[in-house]
Amino acid sequence: MVHPGGWFEKLYPRLTTPYASRIHLNSPVTRIIRDNTGVVITTPSGTQRFDQVVLACHADQALAMLGDASSAEQEILGAMPYQDNEVVLHTDTALLPRRQRAWASWNYRLDQRDSEARVSVTYDMNILQRIESDTTFCVTLNDSASIDPNKVLGRYTYAHPQFTLAGQAAQGRHAEISSTAYRTHFCGAYWRNGFHEDGVWSALRVAQALGCDEAAPPPSQPSALPAHELLTPQGVEGLG
Ligand SMILES: Cc1cc2nc3c(=O)[nH]c(=O)nc-3n(C[C@H](O)[C@H](O)[C@H](O)COP(=O)(O)OP(=O)(O)OC[C@H]3O[C@@H](n4cnc5c(N)ncnc54)[C@H](O)[C@@H]3O)c2cc1C
Repeated sequence: MVHPGGWFEKLYPRLTTPYASRIHLNSPVTRIIRDNTGVVITTPSGTQRFDQVVLACHADQALAMLGDASSAEQEILGAMPYQDNEVVLHTDTALLPRRQRAWASWNYRLDQRDSEARVSVTYDMNILQRIESDTTFCVTLNDSASIDPNKVLGRYTYAHPQFTLAGQAAQGRHAEISSTAYRTHFCGAYWRNGFHEDGVWSALRVAQALGCDEAAPPPSQPSALPAHELLTPQGVEGLG
């Protein structure tokens, strides 16, 4: 989630200014076809040809887009299962620990659950995203029934990767499907442990395959600085 006025909203234009006119938002890719000279990508606005394609989405979404998936792509991407989780945005602080001093960004709830029940977690979004408000915004996973319906702001379903032995074996086969030779690259948190940093780790691997050298000195144009150059322990350099 990105909240208005947050650091990401300020960082994003600085990262994308050099190529902002070429970013297509709200353009779901419906089909990707590779041939000897390039990649043809279809969206509701039509088809476009590119040299290479990076699929920064979930494994099943990537497979669904590939109109000419190889057997290796089918095997590897098909071995990464996902589980849907119900996610509710609400203001019912009863889902947080009874003692307010114990409230944290992530609050796990294990009470009255048998071993088969999925773990419930409630995020205190005000702490997690430094939201300054008299209202405490919460996001709860897998505990919809406990939330006061009058305090629900929105209900969503998000898919999380599930980690299985087959999936782990598939993670090790990334090089079989992702390379400039195949004009196709795959990244996303599912290539490691499913967290944000795993998405970044996998994106750096793709960037390196495409010839980006992390060790190279940053360009002089500040708007083109990579994210890690802008980040300081306090937040984003030069941004309030
Ligand atoms: C409720 C919740 C809380 C979480 N909390 C944390 C946390 O506290 N810390 C943490 O490290 N991780 C957390 N995670 C996990 C984290 O969000 C994921 O690891 C991360 O977002 C995965 O990044 P990704 O780039 O792999 O996939 P995503 O962020 O899911 O990005 C995939 C993108 O692909 C796009 N896409 C899909 N299909 C198409 C298509 N056909 N055409 C074009 N675009 C398409 C989607 O719109 C989406 O923008 C949380 C996840 C959830 C759901």
